[in-house]
Amino acid sequence: MDVFVEKRKIGLVAGPCSAENRSQMLDTARGLKALGVRLFRAGLWKPRSRWGSFEGVGKKGLPWMNEIQQELGLKVMTEVALPRHVEAVLKSGIDMVWIGARTTANPFMMSELAEALKGSGMPVWIKNPICPDVALWIGAVERLRNAGIQDVRVIHRGFCVVDSAPYRNAPLWELAEQFRHNFPELTYYCDPSHMAGKRELLFPLCEKALSCGFDGLFVESHNSPEVALSDSAQQLTPVDLGALLRSLHVIID
Ligand code: PEP
Ligand code: MN
Repeated sequence: MDVFVEKRKIGLVAGPCSAENRSQMLDTARGLKALGVRLFRAGLWKPRSRWGSFEGVGKKGLPWMNEIQQELGLKVMTEVALPRHVEAVLKSGIDMVWIGARTTANPFMMSELAEALKGSGMPVWIKNPICPDVALWIGAVERLRNAGIQDVRVIHRGFCVVDSAPYRNAPLWELAEQFRHNFPELTYYCDPSHMAGKRELLFPLCEKALSCGFDGLFVESHNSPEVALSDSAQQLTPVDLGALLRSLHVIID
């Protein structure tokens, strides 16, 4: 007998780790739209640990983002790490940006980005810093706020620690909780993809995030994760993301 479980409405941002080519972007976006996704993410400029890894397609991917906006009606977002990324994004009409974990950890870069984003009216999503330092995270939000940026949204993606096993980044939920005390009014999403590092570990992390009161999830999804040029092991196909949402008993708000 089926037991009726009321579904919880959550926010969802989904899309590939990196924009790779037009068909990968459009195909992934179509699959996500079919699930009811309204906010699409894709990294154009990718911060990679090793020199020589795929560093993203850069500006070349902006028209693919525009096509997804116009043809599918999705809102699109990408990572900005330098003022010149902000300039390119503003020119092309991208809807939102996120600031990555390595950038949040750098107060000089945060000041430069806050200055570049000032007056844009654009929602700015900010990840926790890569190191487990709540003050650095708070300082990054203060820098955005001091530049008059009103719409700041927070993403908890876990922290780089010596022993994070079995995860790629340790969740350290208590640090997110401490941070939240400072800014209780903000919107909080959890990025289980970068915490997990492996798609098999996503489900319990999503469950935990939702039980901790996060407003939504920020998940990497790729039409062919096995051939993805970055973060291959942690990405889900749109179909598998749909199955994950069903097993979590959630629907997209
Ligand atoms: C990403 O979202 O693809 C990314 C690079 O994330 P983070 O800054 O959390 O490592
Ligand atoms: Mn990634």
